[in-house]
Amino acid sequence: MYTVYRDDQVSLDPLRDRRLSVIGFGNQGSAQSLNMRDSGLDVLIGNRDDEYRPRARDAGFEVVEIPEAAERGDVVSLLIPDEVQREVHLAQIAPHLAAGDCLNFAHGYNLHYGFIEAPPGVDVTMVAPRMIGRGVRDLFVQGKGASAYCAVHQDATGRAQDTMLAIAKAIGCSRGGAIVTTVALETELDHFLEQATWPAIFRVLIESFEVLVEAGYPPEIVALELWGCKEAAEILEAMADTGLFRQMALHSQTSQYGTMSRAPTVIGPEMKPAFAARLREIRTGIFAREWELERLLGYPVFHKLRAECLAHPINAAEDKMRDLGL
Ligand code: NDP
Repeated sequence: MYTVYRDDQVSLDPLRDRRLSVIGFGNQGSAQSLNMRDSGLDVLIGNRDDEYRPRARDAGFEVVEIPEAAERGDVVSLLIPDEVQREVHLAQIAPHLAAGDCLNFAHGYNLHYGFIEAPPGVDVTMVAPRMIGRGVRDLFVQGKGASAYCAVHQDATGRAQDTMLAIAKAIGCSRGGAIVTTVALETELDHFLEQATWPAIFRVLIESFEVLVEAGYPPEIVALELWGCKEAAEILEAMADTGLFRQMALHSQTSQYGTMSRAPTVIGPEMKPAFAARLREIRTGIFAREWELERLLGYPVFHKLRAECLAHPINAAEDKMRDLGL
């Protein structure tokens, strides 16, 4: 299902003498462009004359309109929000790609669900860092790198895998591990976390907040205790470093006993049918079609849900927590 490539197994040669166009200078675009340039490569930015264009200019890049960047680039990384990629690709990128070019993505969504189909003579690759853009840059500067899922979606030249691995190296990801796999694996795992794991964690935090506040504890202190003091963030980091269970050694025995003995009494396998249903929606494309319809309608449900979240008393508790300097 996958093969891991390390930095010393990968060459930058497939990118030398080729121009890399990065479309978008946002989270991933800015980090990846800076890393590619520091890797000694020729990087051109394509961005609308909008908010991010001056940032790219200030960082010393040549910035041109998106169609020109697609035309001049031999390897084109499409690093704009997934929900606008399809129309930008259709109108401003596909007509300017030449046979032998490579079109690269940082997430498999539009490829996996068939929203984007590149011209037949073009290689289509994915290098999807398991890290936010800022982390991709920070790790690179420290001489390290984020890991990334990498996949060849369309191999028109017979050299797509070498180009893909070279992109991973150029942005530092072969230092962290270039995990060569499929677009399906990347997209489905990513969406499972977003649509099952994180929603469950959100609900656990919200229900905990409500129970404690109803029991009379000050809301701002409850918010501090649950996530504001960053102990939870430290625990997640320790899980990544040492292991889900092994990090428990960092806590008191009272804490460990409380967690191990009470876990089965508060939540359990009853979550699994809902998790399996979310996975089915992801794998069958039901979620992707729902989200596409939502986009076409102007995001009515998304805006309603976001307004509900921002109206929750948790927000006032957090404001008070910050006002207190906690
Ligand atoms: P951003 O939201 O940071 O993208 C902002 C950039 O997109 C800006 O340059 C902006 O230009 C441009 N942009 C926005 N809308 C349009 C439009 N309609 N037409 C043209 N340009 C537009 O994106 P991310 O970096 O978060 O995501 C890029 C890709 O990376 C996605 O595929 C995402 O899934 C993937 N990814 C993201 C991660 C992350 O850390 N966020 C992690 C791993 C993968 P301007 O506003 O100046 O017009």
